[in-house]
Amino acid sequence: MKNPIYLDYQATTPLDERVLDAMLPYFRDKFGNAASRNHAFGWEAEKAVETARGQIAALIGADAKEIVFTSGATESNNLAIKGVAEMYREKGRHFISAPTEHKAVLDPLKRLEQEGATVTLLPVDKTGQVALADLEKAIRPDTVLVSLMAANNEIGTLHPLEAIGKLCKARGVLFHTDATQGVGKIPIDVERMGIDLLSLSGHKVYGPKGVGALYVRRRNPRVRLSPQLDGGGHERGMRSGTLNVPGIVGLGKACEIAGAELASETVRLTNLRERFLAKLRGSLDEIYLNGHPTERLPGNLNVSFAFVEGEGLMMGMSELAVSSGSACTSASLEPSYVLRAIGVGEDLAHTSIRFGLGRFTTEAEVDFAAERVIAAVKRLREMSPLYEMAKEGIDISQVKWSPTEH
Ligand SMILES: *Cc1c(COP(=O)(O)O)cnc(C)c1O
Repeated sequence: MKNPIYLDYQATTPLDERVLDAMLPYFRDKFGNAASRNHAFGWEAEKAVETARGQIAALIGADAKEIVFTSGATESNNLAIKGVAEMYREKGRHFISAPTEHKAVLDPLKRLEQEGATVTLLPVDKTGQVALADLEKAIRPDTVLVSLMAANNEIGTLHPLEAIGKLCKARGVLFHTDATQGVGKIPIDVERMGIDLLSLSGHKVYGPKGVGALYVRRRNPRVRLSPQLDGGGHERGMRSGTLNVPGIVGLGKACEIAGAELASETVRLTNLRERFLAKLRGSLDEIYLNGHPTERLPGNLNVSFAFVEGEGLMMGMSELAVSSGSACTSASLEPSYVLRAIGVGEDLAHTSIRFGLGRFTTEAEVDFAAERVIAAVKRLREMSPLYEMAKEGIDISQVKWSPTEH
């Protein structure tokens, strides 16, 4: 077993060897510019790009012509949101989203708000889902875009894309989904789900970093976007810049593999996840699963461990590469805004850990990880007077602390 064990697949995924093999020739002799129309180097690169476009489209039920290459999901989200805002400014300037979205959605929306647009963030329930009735009520005549993610990167909660898409269609509002965590992990079909714009990223699907795509619907309705990068008119004028051919080849291959293995990986990872959770629950009390119990990413487990200190817990299981609910916004020790939005109290948010399982996670790793977590939590609780009091039946929230004891 490798040490530390990588359990942070929602942060990034390792590059699949098969993807690397597909990319390597495009770093060496097949170095052509896909926009070079006059010679074989260009044609070869263009052909590889078109193959990748088809592989990506096939995974999400789209047409190859509807795929626009970008530098990643952050850029895709920016292009979708700002591109729609500019293009449909005459129609209206109202946007709908949710507080649990990735910053790459929330920050572009914040920018639009500063420029005079109105943004409604729908409430989410304690699992992290929005209510369709709330969405329906929020749509106004001047609403141009609903942006709701396919799967949450922290708590793994899935949104009911098909129901959301149907509602948007019925009300004539465009539907964008940040599907960075969902693509290749859960079935996605832009036709059946009524998705008009969809963001995805290479490095979350065992492909390379720095490459992504935006799906832009071409009919029923034809979605138009104001480009956010001008120059050269690549990608049907929506995103200029010389294409990252090796990266695009890798993204295409990664999507092909993800599609072929989606069904078997869903079963395998769901089993591993439930095995992990059952082990934790079998040995520890006072632990809380964050996110939805079933409507969640197969490879995501987010758990709060009451009566332990977050930093101590992280140090106590240094053999595991995981993410904590307080370290998410990098240097700050603020608890995660996603956990806050679903009503997790500050104390529990600070002791929450995201375990991300993926393609190369084995049963032996899961068993080892569960053992380490259980040992670390038990050790910390042995030193915790609060845990002892709780065990004795004292309701800690009712305890009146005497100021002299502090
Ligand atoms: C990782 C991630 C992004 C950002 O993707 P990049 O390709 O790294 O820019 C956006 N949204 C979600 C949900 C993510 O998980």
